[in-house]
Amino acid sequence: MGLRNIIVTMKVVPKIEELEFDPETKTIRRGAAGNEINPADKNALELALRIKDRYGGRVVVVSMGPPFWEPYLKLAIAMGADDAILVSDRALAGSDTLPTTLTLSKAIEKIGDYDIILCGEESSDGGTGQVPSGIAEWLGIPHVTFISDVMDVTDDNKAMVKRTIKGGHEIVEVTLPFLAAVELGCNTPRFPDFRRKRWAEREFQLTVWSAADLGLSPEEVGLKGSATTVVDLEEVKPPTRLKKKYTGSAEELADKLAELLKSIM
Ligand SMILES: Cc1cc2nc3c(=O)[nH]c(=O)nc-3n(C[C@H](O)[C@H](O)[C@H](O)COP(=O)(O)OP(=O)(O)OC[C@H]3O[C@@H](n4cnc5c(N)ncnc54)[C@H](O)[C@@H]3O)c2cc1C
Repeated sequence: MGLRNIIVTMKVVPKIEELEFDPETKTIRRGAAGNEINPADKNALELALRIKDRYGGRVVVVSMGPPFWEPYLKLAIAMGADDAILVSDRALAGSDTLPTTLTLSKAIEKIGDYDIILCGEESSDGGTGQVPSGIAEWLGIPHVTFISDVMDVTDDNKAMVKRTIKGGHEIVEVTLPFLAAVELGCNTPRFPDFRRKRWAEREFQLTVWSAADLGLSPEEVGLKGSATTVVDLEEVKPPTRLKKKYTGSAEELADKLAELLKSIM
């Protein structure tokens, strides 16, 4: 069967090893770290491209974020996506998962003609894992979590998806259109095509929509539209190694070790 749009939600995240938090504002210091496409979203994009190779369709990437995300959307185009849309608006700043999912669902409705929506299972920064289910709820479509593959799409508008469970996997039948949250690391994302990358960087025209373009009022999004507030934030740093070296006889070392253990207990 020929598929229509296969939509991939894509978030740009700070590189986890460079992540810093602002204890005052209780938010991530987004300028402090280098950025990357959320790793699970690369797996979602790879799966979408494989589905397209098998069943046809158009892969459309959609993001809600600041204008500096544009190069990352172009990278998704270089990997093989057919189109990319960025929803970007100051009114969206401070959105928790409620307005984020509302906004993304409105963008997906505006794209229209979708058969499959693929999200990453969770982001490596916010990491709530709420966005996939939230979008499906707003759209009123079925959703399956932790999938690693779409095994088959049949003419009667059904798909068989492989879902990871503790100790194995199950095959779930789901009716189109559906949304699935794709498991991190379930496939190897392809490298961007070099010539397509150059074309994407120079010629691809990114579509940018505002909140108003999606019929959203400032009250529905951003801090005003959010149902939750971060009231406290604590950074847990991994313990540093002491790197102490002890020498002596077996008895002396045993005594020193016992002393050391007592001091930290
Ligand atoms: C209480 C609370 C307050 C917050 N306040 C702020 C704040 O003040 N400022 C701020 O910048 N952030 C804030 N956030 C974070 C913001 O809500 C999240 O970045 C956003 O809602 C996505 O949630 P997540 O990262 O947990 O995504 P998850 O649900 O973990 O992501 C799953 C998948 O959803 C998709 N996805 C998620 N977000 C996007 C996106 N923006 N565009 C496209 N696809 C996406 C991706 O495919 C991703 O792999 C807050 C979060 C919470 C819970």
